[in-house]
Amino acid sequence: VIRTRIAPSPTGFLHLGTARTALYSWAYARHFGGQFVLRIEDTDVARSTQDSVDQILASMKWLGLDYDEGPIYQMQRLERYQAVIDQMIAAGSAYRCYCTPEELDAMKAAQESRGEKRRYDGTWRPEAGKTLPAIPEGMKPVVRFKNPLDGDVSWDDVVKGTITINNREIDDLIIQRTDGVPTYNFAVVVDDWDMAITHVFRGDEHVNNTPWQINIFNALGAPLPAFGHMPVILGDDGQKLSKRRGAVSVTAYEDGGYLPEAMLNYLSRLGWSHGDDELFTREQLVSWFDGTHLNKSPAQWDPAKLEWVNGQYIKQADDARLAVLVSAQLAKRGIAAEVQKLTPMCTLFKDRCATTVVLADWLAMYFAPVAPSAEDLAAQVTDAVKPALATLADKFAALAEWNKAAIQAAIKETITAHGIKMPQLAIPVRVLVCGRAQTPSVDAVLELFSKEIVIERLRGV
Ligand code: GLU
Repeated sequence: VIRTRIAPSPTGFLHLGTARTALYSWAYARHFGGQFVLRIEDTDVARSTQDSVDQILASMKWLGLDYDEGPIYQMQRLERYQAVIDQMIAAGSAYRCYCTPEELDAMKAAQESRGEKRRYDGTWRPEAGKTLPAIPEGMKPVVRFKNPLDGDVSWDDVVKGTITINNREIDDLIIQRTDGVPTYNFAVVVDDWDMAITHVFRGDEHVNNTPWQINIFNALGAPLPAFGHMPVILGDDGQKLSKRRGAVSVTAYEDGGYLPEAMLNYLSRLGWSHGDDELFTREQLVSWFDGTHLNKSPAQWDPAKLEWVNGQYIKQADDARLAVLVSAQLAKRGIAAEVQKLTPMCTLFKDRCATTVVLADWLAMYFAPVAPSAEDLAAQVTDAVKPALATLADKFAALAEWNKAAIQAAIKETITAHGIKMPQLAIPVRVLVCGRAQTPSVDAVLELFSKEIVIERLRGV
């Protein structure tokens, strides 16, 4: 049975790259009827926070990436790691190292001066016939993995193809710190083993860790999972996508008015493809995602494309659902707007809006005063048109019913009476009532205001 996992470190929000990896791991498990596990890698105690855990869980939920097990916290598994470490020390595949930081620094300096790569020199590595230094008193050791000295580590990466590293290039990694907390490369192996993970998808930045992990798996006699390392996501400047270059958290896109299904659709295409298909459902993704057609080369984050995708989803979205989202966006601006009132407004405006933030930009005019630009006022609300605007306000005031047909009729009568053309009246009406010169059809837009507000704004009260 296929088992995948996502293992974020709770030191911040859910990064887009991690979200994509989570998505692939999830879709892979779902495609094969397997299981998907969420593990929180919180061994970096100083930087891990509950707030970050909450954000990660919220983003997973928002994206609809449901997991079958978890969240499992590494810090609650310390006893298990200790047991494995004791076992490894007993078996001779790990050993205690009492080198002081000063000694390690001196080792590094000496290696650098000889132009060598920095590596642990094996001072405390037990070998047959070797006498180890005397254990310094009162000093807490770290535990190191006794990495094979030669031979190759090789794996067939699901994304990158075969990767081979010679053991001479890697050294005896620290697997437990002096405070007893295991390091990433060790805990990840014990966990992937205990959780019976069959496929590890993760970011490129872990490729260099994989040889160590494979060696540790082998030392433990644990079956190896398959590994797939996803290339980085680049920003539009060709640099790795980072906070400095724009929003990189899932939360930022939720706040920015994106729909989770659009995010999911866009993220899935970032490093994977299914023919020319651009828009597809979650179900289609699951039925297509079998671990093939993953890109080897970095993907480019394309905000314009994401916006387009989101706009497509907004067009199709249920209006009552959009109304709830827009209501939340408006609340952030201090505008209380009833979902029921917002629903027909979403129907009218959603086609021109790429995000619910843009939709809220539009719909705010229904609930809060508008501020037409001086430019629009000067160009559109001219002295010549003011009498016609006054007539229209009077005609509106006299209307018994407030609907599109009545509004349309009042406008027609006004332009006839003043001998002007439709745009000469409709544009200044838009500027005054909506605060902008371009809107959907004016009668449809006005209908959703209360008559009183329209008249007030036309009369400039
Ligand atoms: N905690 C690691 C990270 O967030 C997980 C890497 C892995 O999936 O093995 O990068």
